[in-house]
Amino acid sequence: MNATLKERADKVFMATYGRYPVAMVKGEGCRLFDADGKEYLDFLSGIAVCGLGHCHPAVVAAVRRQVADLVHVSNLYYTLPQTELAEKLVANSFADKVFFCNSGAEANEAAIKLARKASAPERYEIISLEGSFHGRTLATVAATGQTRFHQGFEPMPAGFQHAPFGDLAALERMIRSATCAILCEPLQGEGGVRPLPPDYLKGIRDLCDENGLFLIFDEVQTGVGHTGTLFAHQQLGVEPDIMTLAKALGGGLPIGAMLARQHIAQAFTPGTHASTFGGNPVVCAAANASLDTILADGFLQSTREKGEYFRAALQKLAARFPGQIATARGMGLLLGLVFTEAGAAQGGEIVAKMMERGFLINFTAGIALRFVPPLIVSKAEIDLLLAALAEVLAEVFAAPR
Ligand SMILES: *Cc1c(COP(=O)(O)O)cnc(C)c1O
Repeated sequence: MNATLKERADKVFMATYGRYPVAMVKGEGCRLFDADGKEYLDFLSGIAVCGLGHCHPAVVAAVRRQVADLVHVSNLYYTLPQTELAEKLVANSFADKVFFCNSGAEANEAAIKLARKASAPERYEIISLEGSFHGRTLATVAATGQTRFHQGFEPMPAGFQHAPFGDLAALERMIRSATCAILCEPLQGEGGVRPLPPDYLKGIRDLCDENGLFLIFDEVQTGVGHTGTLFAHQQLGVEPDIMTLAKALGGGLPIGAMLARQHIAQAFTPGTHASTFGGNPVVCAAANASLDTILADGFLQSTREKGEYFRAALQKLAARFPGQIATARGMGLLLGLVFTEAGAAQGGEIVAKMMERGFLINFTAGIALRFVPPLIVSKAEIDLLLAALAEVLAEVFAAPR
């Protein structure tokens, strides 16, 4: 039962997560089932992780096959699954070389270390953006441009600056002789599903070129299909020098990757960086199966179509509550409904009411409802969510308070 597991768990876990009183026991496609037998439509995908939904047959089969052959050997040896995965990532991106780890934060740590290692010793500083999210390790939390994540953990590691979002001139003024890279998400996920304006992104690229800086894209959340292209930057006309991936890459299993062009990647030589589990054969087999499915003909095209349909419907919904909802925004199937200040106070309540009705979404940065359904979601499932959301919004925003 949900309640029994919650009671056991709360006794033994550090309270880092504010959890809903629900224990999930089974997943299938876009559906999740809890310990009391209640069914949910999952429009969060484990926070942009389960791109192919839950227990996709291709991923399950690949894991079953690999786990029977070889589970782990360490990176002292080569394995086929991780080599295949790296080949696919290189073939489908700007990058020449790949490093595997186990999470988004680790991928960003690797990117930060590579940017420093590939620069002259006096150049070590990285500029990221306000509102960004790059992870919870000390260096990545220092790179994260939201002070609430720093509080209580000071002093932050040195060498990180945050530029105000959208202000290219301010960013340019922050560049100095110690700067080695600019780090940003093409769309800020945890920052409220906030896309960087294309001109701003191009301006950042130009600043990097003019000043000899590396441009690092954190595509941990935007990468691997959710935005309608394999990587978000591929539809924005700007290429990075270094890119990080994680969340959706493993089809639900934990993996992170850091990709770079050869002239930068060459700074990593034997012994300079490592990860015991990085590129684990089972996880890479799952990632290969997931990536093959996403790269198959028509898959991303269909993601884009469903994304446009969903976004247009959210925009219509927004127009019905002008006092509380500002706009719908996002890319592909990574969408947000952005509240006004008046509406934002009810964000948590809306998520809870949607959950009661069997729909999983979340509320991010205190400003936006986030919708990240599995890419296999159907239009009918999108319609079900929209109908429930329209009712909940009417209930919450129309009620006198
Ligand atoms: C989730 C996220 C991270 C951190 O990933 P973990 O796997 O939780 O360490 C980093 N960057 C972005 C953009 C993310 O969305």
